[in-house]
Amino acid sequence: MARTVEVPQYEVHGEVRLDPARTALVVVDMQNDFVREGGSLVVPDAEGTIPAIRSLLEGARNSGAKVVFTQDTHTGGDPEWDIWPEHAREGSWGWEIVDGLAPREDELVIRKVRYDAFYGTHLDHFLRLWNTKTLVVCGTVANICVHYTAASAALRWYEVVIPKDATSALDPFDLESSLRQTAFLFNGTITTTEAVRLEKENPEAYRSKMEEAARDG
Ligand code: ZN
Repeated sequence: MARTVEVPQYEVHGEVRLDPARTALVVVDMQNDFVREGGSLVVPDAEGTIPAIRSLLEGARNSGAKVVFTQDTHTGGDPEWDIWPEHAREGSWGWEIVDGLAPREDELVIRKVRYDAFYGTHLDHFLRLWNTKTLVVCGTVANICVHYTAASAALRWYEVVIPKDATSALDPFDLESSLRQTAFLFNGTITTTEAVRLEKENPEAYRSKMEEAARDG
């Protein structure tokens, strides 16, 4: 029997300012099987997050922040298909990242075999190489791959930011309880796409600051 429980309050932050040089945007599993009609494991709300994710991508690309895509990847006999219907079969249409969010050639695509994008992959290697401090995690599914990736990042002491309108789950309880866990347990920052500010230091302001410093000797 279904029972109603209340999700405890968590803060949804207004403006979140991030240094693009130390930030990576991680777009989780926005693949046809999870997002598009005809996919094998569709999250009905996922398609509606494409514009928000596109806007985050634009912000990251324009500011020079790193961009990472994760791609759930399975082959025949994968035990995950005992838990879920067959999905993300390597090489299939369902496995491909949706058209509207295609990775650019210079962007990292992490093929992952489990919910956690760090598990058995090179993700941490690249984040350390880039001197990354903060991960902005979006995509689907909020309480599964987004959650376990955010959790794994937080355990490694990366700061985690989740714009809640850029993630989706099968059920509102799953979404809310996952965000509450991220805020409460990992000290993560829950926010909205619009509130994420990735701003390169203004070169003019930098130059005048340097000139001022030189003048003052
Ligand atoms: Zn999977």
